[in-house]
Amino acid sequence: MASIDFDVIGRHVDLSDTTRRMLTRPEKQVMLNLSVRLGNDEVLITDCYVVLQNSARGPAKGGIRVSNAVTLEETRDLAERMVWKTALVRIPFGGGKSGIRVDPAALSIHGRVAVFKEYVHILQGELLSGEYIPEPDMGSGPSEMAVIYGETHMLESVTGKPPRVGGLPGRHEATGRGVAAAAREGLATRLKQDVAGATVAVQGFGNVGSHAALFLHEAGARVVAVSDVTGGLHNQAGLDVPALMRHAAETGSLEGADGGDAISNTDLLALPVDVLAPCALENVLTADTAPAVRAKLIVEGANGPTTPEADRLLDDGEVVVVPDILANAGGVIASYIEWRSAKSGSITKKADVYADIERIIADTFTEVEALARDRAVSLRTAAEVLAVTEVVEAMRERGWT
Ligand code: NAD
Repeated sequence: MASIDFDVIGRHVDLSDTTRRMLTRPEKQVMLNLSVRLGNDEVLITDCYVVLQNSARGPAKGGIRVSNAVTLEETRDLAERMVWKTALVRIPFGGGKSGIRVDPAALSIHGRVAVFKEYVHILQGELLSGEYIPEPDMGSGPSEMAVIYGETHMLESVTGKPPRVGGLPGRHEATGRGVAAAAREGLATRLKQDVAGATVAVQGFGNVGSHAALFLHEAGARVVAVSDVTGGLHNQAGLDVPALMRHAAETGSLEGADGGDAISNTDLLALPVDVLAPCALENVLTADTAPAVRAKLIVEGANGPTTPEADRLLDDGEVVVVPDILANAGGVIASYIEWRSAKSGSITKKADVYADIERIIADTFTEVEALARDRAVSLRTAAEVLAVTEVVEAMRERGWT
């Protein structure tokens, strides 16, 4: 089980059996029992998974997913993607991930605070040593990161904190900012098209999806469809993204929002748009849904939204896919800036954070694009070749292999 196909990557990178085994086996994977008193008559007893995949390039970095669907396998897959992502954009972190198996919507504010206090309690070794540095993922956000900081008393122990609580201005919006930058690079390089006037559909209207839609809207793109777990909204003339964000902030979802016609999540994936940005779940583009895709460019805001079969079908159909490890790296780039500021005590402005994200995404895109052309491979394979090379070289330099 690996998020990338080492047989394909092995054609481009010299991988010994030892190296391959080291890359695929996590350095640490644990399942912890999380028991939390939520109220007088209610005790939550659930699983918490933590995977520290590879630390050759630095401490394990990766988000905390809170969902009643998380599994150890999913946490491993996501931890591995973090190894490649941090390596591809050359930030000095390794990859890790954690998952807390509970429906975040079912928890009160008090319940969330209690769960995250307990998370720190059961994981204090990894958090206080700096071996693992968490950040937000699906189901967690700045408030939860603030709880972690409150418990560790260490600014650098967690990123994605609210700016008022030791966080970085722009970190919350960073992944969406990077998705928009990746879309702009893909449009310019592969479609010879400007982002202004391009049509866009975004699946998922949480942190990543809503900010990606907002930044593309601000850049002059026409966002014609957005969706969340409650369904979607479509308007060929373009949606009012800021108004939809206000609606989602006030009500918690897109349900009841106006400005367009209802559209299902499946139909959204088949819209004839320039850019399709899946920003919700993994495995939404499958052998079943990929043949219907009419978008020219797919920008993977979510982690793992495209299955390997769908990837082959999209490639055959000449749909360009900007892979997750490049497209959604904006968040971890900002996390690195936040961590570095915490270490040094420096203060960084939002505009500088955005500028760094855009420069790193654009430079990395150029490098990935050049290798893809040179080797006649997809952007995904090129990105993975670059990332795996970085990690393998770091392991060699450390004397691990
Ligand atoms: P989030 O919890 O803020 O939002 C998730 C969104 O997906 C919500 O709008 C939700 O309604 C929607 N959704 C859930 N189930 C759905 C379904 N069945 N169909 C359609 N929509 C559905 O999560 P997020 O932080 O925006 O993360 C989204 C994806 O981006 C995940 O794959 C995550 O791993 C990835 N990611 C997040 C970050 C980050 O900084 N938050 C960074 C990199 C990658």
